[in-house]
Amino acid sequence: MASRRNIAPAIGIDLGTTYSCVAVWQNNRAEIIPNDQGNRITPSCVAFTEDGRLLGDAAKNQTDMNPTNTVFAVKRLIGRRFSDSSAQNDVKYWPFKVVAGPSDRPRIVVNYRGVEKQFYAEEISSMVLVKMKEVAETYLGCILKNAVITVPAYFNDSQRQATKNAGAIAGLNVMRIMDEPTAAAIAYGFDKITKDSKKKCVLIFDLGGGTFDVSLLSVIHGKFVVQATTGDTHLGGEDFDDRLVDHCVKEFKKKYNKDITGNAKSLRRLRTACERAKRMLSSSVMTSIDVDYLYDGVDFSTRISRARFEELNKELFMRCTDLIEKCLSDATIDKTGVDVVVLVGGSTRIPKILELVQDFFKGKELCKGIHPDEAVAYGAAILAANLNGQRDKEVQKLVLVDVTPLSLGIQTLGREMSVVVPRNTPIPTKLKKGFETSCDNQTSVRIAVYEGESAETETKYNNLLGEFLIDGIEPAPMGVSKLDVWFDIDADGILTVSAKGRSSGQKKKIVITRQNGDLTAAEIQKMIEDAAHYKAEDEKHKARISLEDLAEKLKSMAMDSGRSASEMKTMEEKAENVIAWLETNHHAEIGEINKQLKELKATFPALCEEN
Ligand code: AMP
Repeated sequence: MASRRNIAPAIGIDLGTTYSCVAVWQNNRAEIIPNDQGNRITPSCVAFTEDGRLLGDAAKNQTDMNPTNTVFAVKRLIGRRFSDSSAQNDVKYWPFKVVAGPSDRPRIVVNYRGVEKQFYAEEISSMVLVKMKEVAETYLGCILKNAVITVPAYFNDSQRQATKNAGAIAGLNVMRIMDEPTAAAIAYGFDKITKDSKKKCVLIFDLGGGTFDVSLLSVIHGKFVVQATTGDTHLGGEDFDDRLVDHCVKEFKKKYNKDITGNAKSLRRLRTACERAKRMLSSSVMTSIDVDYLYDGVDFSTRISRARFEELNKELFMRCTDLIEKCLSDATIDKTGVDVVVLVGGSTRIPKILELVQDFFKGKELCKGIHPDEAVAYGAAILAANLNGQRDKEVQKLVLVDVTPLSLGIQTLGREMSVVVPRNTPIPTKLKKGFETSCDNQTSVRIAVYEGESAETETKYNNLLGEFLIDGIEPAPMGVSKLDVWFDIDADGILTVSAKGRSSGQKKKIVITRQNGDLTAAEIQKMIEDAAHYKAEDEKHKARISLEDLAEKLKSMAMDSGRSASEMKTMEEKAENVIAWLETNHHAEIGEINKQLKELKATFPALCEEN
């Protein structure tokens, strides 16, 4: 058996809509891993340019110059169909193009190295994951494979599966797809608090950049069960920024009689300034918003108070408390039954939000000790270490019960959904329900399996997961023939539905191979190969930049005083030769580029070392 001593660590990744965060369990604690810029969170952003691909901060920083090829927020698309109203609403406002691909799966259209390319949301997410994997590999100095990735508790089966596929495309072995609120609760150690005591109720209030999720977990003996989860997929920091932007647009119009709404660039610059001001208002009661040459050569400058900001967002802030009410009512508990409230997401730094939540829970202490942007990755790292078999006592103690995020059932007469597995049922599970024929002499029954919370099947809320026909039923008057249907969900959440006619003994079953937005094994394999190709292209691009950089440096160093004329000439010549080589060898392989780099370094070892 392989020794566990040198086992590569497993990482926890919070794959967020706006930002992602990666953490690892080591030295007896979860460590948040900073990226190459020193930032502990990385924009979930991918950009395509003439030269290559940019990920994270590098991608976000060039958005203004390259808006149509800078892709963000794909978490909103993953596992959805293009025609979903939610996808349609998002797509309308994005500067990059999204089209319907095969099976109504959305595809993002970009121009990459001068050629039009289309990507599935899984592929873009996999690029963000590649970035997070690289961040962790650089920090830990080893190749990583195993990871836990978090998703919102409301993500349905197909969104979870698509996220798992994104991990596979990124070259990760996704050990578990974990609910974000559960991860946050684990970060705060609530699994341990209740080891010897009674059940506790933990409310996770997660207000990020683009989404708001509120979930109620029950924790007992280290086991977590999501009791209820609700929220708004379009409520978060960006909406608060929008309100501030609207306010400034009106003020600009009033002051200068100029309307900037048609100018995307001016709006983006204003938005950046507004977001900065919003953050300032979390620690100061007054700040300014200044943008030079905002529009038509006119500068914009205004002062804004925290009170005004709160007034502009009053209705959005109130919506947060309304949704807490809804979550509690879904779980049928009173607010006094909540033992702990945990704050997650960057927008929980807004003082008014804190005040509203505090007031709602009548002064109950709020958990905000862990950086709100990091709590989810922190908890994911603990589970990752646990599943990876790390021996630390702290991680070994964890026991997690997964639950079904949505109700599962079959369609009955009148397009109604008859629930077989209610939402939040701990898995693995096997549940049976009896049905009867709905018309006289019926010899076959179509079993259509749905997930969702609506009483009706074919609404935008419920998803058809798969269907099959069971035939050979003995003809009998309506309601006489009986049928048993089993829903069997294994530990990985894979659902098998089987049906058996009670009198005929006829059996049929289906393993749900999520059809909506899902990819076949062959498609995933192709994407893994493409991902390797893009990575190789990135590396080639990096090598070209290093070579060009070094040549340019040598050229300028040649001018330094103290060099002989012949030394100067040799340096200049060599540098010029390399620059010319790069210009004429656009398609050079990485090996050739590295050879040039090596030769250049070998010719001027002392000088190259200085750099
Ligand atoms: P998350 O998605 O959890 O990383 O949260 C990102 C959101 O948090 C963005 O909309 C940020 O503008 C917002 N945010 C971060 N820091 C602050 C702060 N100090 N005050 C208000 N909002 C913040």
